[in-house]
Formats: sequence, structure tokens, C-alpha cells
Amino acid sequence: MTTNEKEFKGGPYSRVTTEDFFKFLDKNSVTTNCVMCGNGVAIVSETSKVSLANPHQPITYVTLFKHEPVIPTEHVLNYYYMLHCEKCGFNTTFSAHRVHSWLTAQQMEESTEDKNE
Ligand SMILES: [Zn+2]
Repeated sequence: MTTNEKEFKGGPYSRVTTEDFFKFLDKNSVTTNCVMCGNGVAIVSETSKVSLANPHQPITYVTLFKHEPVIPTEHVLNYYYMLHCEKCGFNTTFSAHRVHSWLTAQQMEESTEDKNE
């Protein structure tokens, strides 16, 4: 199987920055403490991308993961982000679709506020 960009619907989900992801967690009262062992440091898997305009300041994006269902289907809920506990190894996953649509709604709200000034 070859990578076919047209079939990949997760594109926008791979452009969520770590900062935005933490904003989502914070505003939705999600704890970044491990739910299993209470360890305070949950690690977000990050992917760094360097832009040509600013090669010394890589932007960190939340790594996008994809479930591979037994029957290969392309569905928005196949995509997710992950918090990882370094102490007990527990992984917490978040629907990329949910995070992305929340952030999109936030951005729309923010731009509406700007227009009202
Ligand atoms: Zn843990």
C-alpha cells in the first residue's frame, strides 16, 4: 500500500501544536497527572517541525496517532493524541477530532471578539 494524500483525512489534526493541546486540556479541566498512579508528569508525544522561515525555532506539534482497524476504514475517530506516564507507562488518548474541533471553535470565537472591538 502506498501513502495516498487524498485518502488521508487526518491532515489538519497533524497541525495541532503542543501549546494548543495543553490549552485544550487546561480549559476542559483535564488533569495532566497520571490517572493510574498520580504521577505529576504526563508526557505528550511531540513531533518537531522546522519551518524554512525560522529554522532555529522548531514548532512542536502533538504527534498524531492512528488506529488501524481490522477492516481498514478512514474515519475521523481513528485519529488520536496521547499523554504518556513515564512512571507506570499508562497511556491516555484523546480524540484528535474532538481536540481539533474545540480549537477551531475557540479560534472562531477569538476572531469574532476581535471584530467587535
Ligand atoms: Zn502513571
